[in-house]
Amino acid sequence: MSEIKFPIYLDHHATTPVDPRVLDEMIPYFTEKFGNASSLDHTFGYDASIAVEEAREIIANAIGARHDEIVFTSGATESDNIALLGTMSKYADRGNHLITCVTEHKAILDTAKHLESLGKKVTYLKVNEYGEINLQELENTITSETVMISIMFANNEIGTIADIKSIGEIAHKHEVIFHTDAAQAVGHIPVDVGMMNIDLMSFSAHKMYGPKGIGALYVRGVKPRVKPDGLFHGGGQERNIRSGTLNVPGIVGFGKAMEIAVSEMDSENKKFKEWTDLMLSEFEKIGGKLNGHSTKRLSHNLNVYFPGIESKSIINSISKEIAISAGSACTTHVVEPSHVLLALGLDEDTTHYAIRIGLGRFNETNEIKFTVDKIYDVVKSLKKISV
Ligand SMILES: *Cc1c(COP(=O)(O)O)cnc(C)c1O
Repeated sequence: MSEIKFPIYLDHHATTPVDPRVLDEMIPYFTEKFGNASSLDHTFGYDASIAVEEAREIIANAIGARHDEIVFTSGATESDNIALLGTMSKYADRGNHLITCVTEHKAILDTAKHLESLGKKVTYLKVNEYGEINLQELENTITSETVMISIMFANNEIGTIADIKSIGEIAHKHEVIFHTDAAQAVGHIPVDVGMMNIDLMSFSAHKMYGPKGIGALYVRGVKPRVKPDGLFHGGGQERNIRSGTLNVPGIVGFGKAMEIAVSEMDSENKKFKEWTDLMLSEFEKIGGKLNGHSTKRLSHNLNVYFPGIESKSIINSISKEIAISAGSACTTHVVEPSHVLLALGLDEDTTHYAIRIGLGRFNETNEIKFTVDKIYDVVKSLKKISV
C-alpha cells in the first residue's frame, strides 16, 4: 500500500478527478484532431464527428438508449434547464403543471421557481425521514393539467436512491412525461431508461471521472416520443435541442469515462460499501447518526451527524488532511441549513452537525482508516470541550 498523499479527497459528490485514462483519450482532440464535428467537408471535421458518434454510442448503450436519444450539453444543470423549461413550453397545450420534490438539486428547484414566475404551477412533494417521496401521494397529485414529473435518481447530499421504475410507471399510466436528474447515479449504479420508464434524464461527466463542462440529456425517441424546445438558438446541433459547436474533447472524455464506469462499477461499489459500513460502525460508537436510507443509498455516500458537534468544527480540525463537506457544495458559500436535511425532519441546529463523505475511485484503504481514526479522535475531543 502506498504512502498517504494529503489532503485526502472525500468530496466526490461535488466533483471527481478526471481519470488519467480519460485524459489520455481527450488530449489529441485539443491539438491535431481539433476539427469542428459539424464541418463534414474535410477530414478534420469528419474525424471529430466520428469520435463524437463513437462516444455517443458508448453513452447510449450504457443507459439502454439509442444513440440518437443522447443530446450533449454543458452539464447536468443545463440538461435540467432544457428538460424542465423546454418540455413545459413545448407541451404547454397539455397543461401547466409540474410535479417535483423538495430535496432536488438547486438546478431543478431554481428552474421550477422560474417556471412559477412564468405562471406555471409546481407541486413540491415532501419526503419521509429517509428522503423518499410517497408514491401514492405522487399519483394523487397528478391532475389533467400535469405535463411532467421530475424526481432525482440519487440525492447528492444523503445518497438516497429513488424508486425510479415505479415513479416512471405512475407517470406513464397517466401519460405524463417523466424526467430524472441522474447526475449522481449514472456511472455509479445501473441505469436503464427503458426498464425504468424514463423519458428525459440529466447527467454529467464530472461526477463520474470525466471532465467538467460536458453532460447529456437523454431524450426518449419512441413510446412516447418526447422533444423539448431548445433554449439556445443557433446552428441546430443536437437535433435543434442544443445549438452550439460540440465540445469534442469533452465528449470523447465523457465516452471514455462511461466505458470505464460500466466495467468497474460493481467492484467499486463492493469496496465502497465495505468502507462506508466500517466508517458508520466506528462513528456510531461515538454517537454518530446516519442521515438518509440505510440500504437504498449510494454505496460511496455517508452523511452523518454527531449531536452537539458543529460540522464546521470537525471540518476545520481535519482540513489539512481530509477534504469533506458540510451539506452540499453548491450552497456552502451561504450559511443556510441544508434544504435536504430540513426536509428529512431534522431541526435547524441538527442540520449544522452533518458532514458528508463521498468516496471515490482513487481512494485507498489506508486513507479510509486514517479518516476514521482522525474523525473519531476529533469528535471525541470536541465532545469533551462541549460538555
Ligand atoms: C452536480 C449535480 C448537478 C449539476 O451538474 P453540473 O454538471 O455541475 O451542472 C445537478 N444535479 C445533481 C443531483 C448534481 O449532483
